[in-house]
Amino acid sequence: DIQLIEPFRIAFETITSTMGILVQIHTDENIVGMGEGVPTTIITGETQEGAIHAVNKYLAPTLFGKDPFKIGKLIAQMDRVVLGNSSAKAAVDIALHDILGKAINKPLYNLLGGYVHDVSSDCTIGIKKPEEMAKDALAIVEKGFNTIKVKIGVDVAEDVERVRRVREAVGDDIVIRVDANQGYSVKAAIRVVHKLEPYQIQLVEQPVPAWNIEGLAIVKHAVSVPIMADESVHSPQDAIEIIKRDAADMINIKLMKAGGIFKARQIATVAEAAGIPCIVGCMEETKVSITAAAHFAVSTENVREADLDSPLFLKEDPVMEGGIEYEQGMLKVPSLPGIGVVLKENWRY
Ligand code: MG
Repeated sequence: DIQLIEPFRIAFETITSTMGILVQIHTDENIVGMGEGVPTTIITGETQEGAIHAVNKYLAPTLFGKDPFKIGKLIAQMDRVVLGNSSAKAAVDIALHDILGKAINKPLYNLLGGYVHDVSSDCTIGIKKPEEMAKDALAIVEKGFNTIKVKIGVDVAEDVERVRRVREAVGDDIVIRVDANQGYSVKAAIRVVHKLEPYQIQLVEQPVPAWNIEGLAIVKHAVSVPIMADESVHSPQDAIEIIKRDAADMINIKLMKAGGIFKARQIATVAEAAGIPCIVGCMEETKVSITAAAHFAVSTENVREADLDSPLFLKEDPVMEGGIEYEQGMLKVPSLPGIGVVLKENWRY
């Protein structure tokens, strides 16, 4: 468990700490793969205790004695022993990918298509009073970020004021995207997006409830600002549903929803074939899985931007060496083998 520097409020909850799991996989060649899962109960239906149990009781036994290079088969087997549990599976998937990179002594992105592009990350502002959010926005710009994600989804008038104050504070050169985290009805979503148009919003993320794909499509077709699906898309199958129903302009891929890098790549590929660009986002993860997500982003043509800011909100960092760094808002992926994180020696398990 790691405390947040300050409480983080989004449309459907306020959190003060994050509760993740770390998975280590040991091979007979003395390679140790490291992975992280961060169950978000309200998104994936998992708990920390449940994720630990899922790894120990169901996922680990499918791996014993197997060749990690047969990762495609191992991922399929994990899906055969337990439904869902995507964060637990993500932890195992990341650890397997870490092993592969370490086995060939190369950074992971080399195994995922190579380093195809630099990726910038936004930095997020949780829901607060509009004037406080404006202050936070300035602090983010001072840190060098040129994209800000503003959390909304509470009340149309208040949310418009939030975005107005943030835009006023940062000027016209900063990119602003907003995330309603399922907070609006279809009609409220359309109303708020129209009212936000004067503030040059790059995109609106998940305006309506995750289950309401038809509603998402209605919003998409009623506004000119791009609509991005987040909570509506966990799996490659969900992505196909979005495409079939023409329900979003973009998809936010997260390793914790997808069950790891392997499935995240499938979502990116499905979306790419349909002409839908993706970003990679995160839960309240540490640098362990965020670094894994960054390897995925820089090696995936169809992942243009990132929302990989969660390590900045945590009071503690388990990583001693390597791990993702932020340079003027750009993700700097470590060049160590595998995902490239070395944990602090006394870090708790
Ligand atoms: Mg989101």
